[in-house]
Amino acid sequence: MKVEQRLAKWARVEMTYDARGLPERDKRFLQKLIEASQYMDEAFWRQSGRGAVEVWDRLRASENAKSLLRLFSIMAGPYDRLEEFEPFMDVPPKPLGAGFYPDDLTREEFERYLAQHPEQRESLLSPYTVVKREGDSLIAVPYHEEYREFVEPASRLLKEAAELTDSRSLKRCLASRAEALLTDDYYQSDIEWISLKDNDYDIIIGPYEFYEDRLMGVKAAYEATVEIVDREESHNLEVYIQYLDDLEGALPYPEKYKRSIEGLKSPFVVVRDIYRGGHLRAGIQATAANLPNDPRVHTEYGTKKTFWKNMIGAYLKHISFAVARELIVPEQFELLPRQPDIALTLFHEIAHALGPRWVIQVDGSKTPIREALKDHLSPLEEEKADVVGLYCLGYLMGEGIIPREHEREYYVRDLASNLRGLRYGLAEAHALGRMCQVNYHLERGAIFYDEASGRFGVNFDKIASSVADLAEIILTLEATGDYEGTGRFFQKYGRMPEIVRKALGRTEDFPVSLEPVYKVLWE
Ligand code: ZN
Repeated sequence: MKVEQRLAKWARVEMTYDARGLPERDKRFLQKLIEASQYMDEAFWRQSGRGAVEVWDRLRASENAKSLLRLFSIMAGPYDRLEEFEPFMDVPPKPLGAGFYPDDLTREEFERYLAQHPEQRESLLSPYTVVKREGDSLIAVPYHEEYREFVEPASRLLKEAAELTDSRSLKRCLASRAEALLTDDYYQSDIEWISLKDNDYDIIIGPYEFYEDRLMGVKAAYEATVEIVDREESHNLEVYIQYLDDLEGALPYPEKYKRSIEGLKSPFVVVRDIYRGGHLRAGIQATAANLPNDPRVHTEYGTKKTFWKNMIGAYLKHISFAVARELIVPEQFELLPRQPDIALTLFHEIAHALGPRWVIQVDGSKTPIREALKDHLSPLEEEKADVVGLYCLGYLMGEGIIPREHEREYYVRDLASNLRGLRYGLAEAHALGRMCQVNYHLERGAIFYDEASGRFGVNFDKIASSVADLAEIILTLEATGDYEGTGRFFQKYGRMPEIVRKALGRTEDFPVSLEPVYKVLWE
């Protein structure tokens, strides 16, 4: 396969924003935010690994360089075989630890080292340090030192932008984030970002997600997006916040593990983005985010859920609908909506805010579940969000809060997006979680395979109870921090059955994800 064909897996989508009608000051403001975000993009490629840096340095001038490197950032599974690129790129395989650790450091060696040097544990496992060798020792270099050339100008631009907005909360948030980039202490700026209000613009900027670190799952990758807030639609979603505590109470897992999420601020924001960079722009394009990831902030303030409506619409238009036609039995395909709708995405994100955060040890001390579940947490947490989200939707329909008329549509949409998600390859965190859902529901008879058409469908009599039982399994694995148990669960349910592989084969030629091309019309 040629590089061009590989690139065709990514539907190029123009995301053009017309800023011509905005006041000059707003334009300058947005330009500064975009420029700051571009530095995060550069810092991310540095983080993503030796191979990427070398190639990036060499191909800097080439039009295709970034597109190709984006593909490398997932580089696994049936749709992303590195070999296909080797003749073109001459790239060494990307280490599991990307650029966060020495290339030759194995998980075993690292864990042995941590056990022998408990005093270094915190700094070496910090989300914001790069691990390096120094003689026989491992040392932790803070991000703000390692990536100084990127974070300093980004910080300066955020400070300048802060001078150009009248929103007091946004002004504070930008100034605070500018400081955080230079110290790697994000706590205060995270809180100010969650508490933003009355702002027409928003920005996510800094190191957030852990997916890029496949060695330990603890190092955060830089990312950024500049957003125009849809205040009316955001406001419409706020209604669900009042049910967060009810939902936690209704989750199917033992009471002793549950926590109160009373008084949580958990804003929903619907936006369109006019720029994305770094981890957010690498590989599969996200339609929503639940941030920040700091468990202290979750406990004290909750999280903010962002929905990128332009991206949700683009997926539907360019990929989802066509793929679902190939995978879903015709009578159920008819149930799928033609317009973008954020219900499932919304509940996926709500579910991220629910469930266990800490593993309570026998002596009463608390360990963050990320530390207990390590590399298993990302796929398990994504699966939790899908399954628990669907469970919550069912619960609110049962309570009469959400009308039942779309019930079947939701289950079919969930099946369609689970199957579609497998096209990313099982090494991707969300896809492994989806494979487990499909296999579990198949085993329970809650979804069926129609031999004649080679398509799948939902068994509406069984799906709700299967979703509840699967939710219980996942929540319990998280609450107990059961690393081995999670491994066994992935072993059992994480493989692709032949019937699924065959069905997906019919969608080979469809794009896998979107490659957004952002453009702003300034004048
Ligand atoms: Zn998620």
